[in-house]
Amino acid sequence: MIDKPRYSHATKIAQKLISETKTDIPPVDLNKILSHVGINLLPYPFPEKVSAILLKESDMLVVGVNNAHHPNRQRFSIAHEIGHYLLGHYKDIFVDMSEISEGRFDASDSEHNKVQEQEANYFAGELLMPLFMLKRDFQKTRNVEEVAKLYRVSKDALWIRLLKLKIV
Ligand SMILES: [Zn+2]
Repeated sequence: MIDKPRYSHATKIAQKLISETKTDIPPVDLNKILSHVGINLLPYPFPEKVSAILLKESDMLVVGVNNAHHPNRQRFSIAHEIGHYLLGHYKDIFVDMSEISEGRFDASDSEHNKVQEQEANYFAGELLMPLFMLKRDFQKTRNVEEVAKLYRVSKDALWIRLLKLKIV
């Protein structure tokens, strides 16, 4: 088991995906990323508490996302699950409860560990708001609301990212 989040590892994997898919303008095209990785997306009316799941059926990888949630939140959940997969957290099935998204986490509520959640959340931030794009676009407007709209992320997720990267 990993005991400390591997943030620079998460960054490297996200940056590789961004460059391999030639992503350079927001919003990051998650469908393109998913097909590049070989993951099928299944929007599904899960119970409110469930954000997303990652599972393997025979040889097929599936991310199921709660399609009742706000589209921005769905994007974050999808990116988070891609993170679990590429960071090797993968077992047979992962179920992510809603508290997990965007940095909030309730350990008692989850089967999988906190370090993995931190890594997956960090990865999601890297994927949806790559540093070189965010720096460029944020400096143009310096308006969190506008940039969040452009990137199709929540303002909370953007704030977390801007603070972490010390852009604000
Ligand atoms: Zn998770």
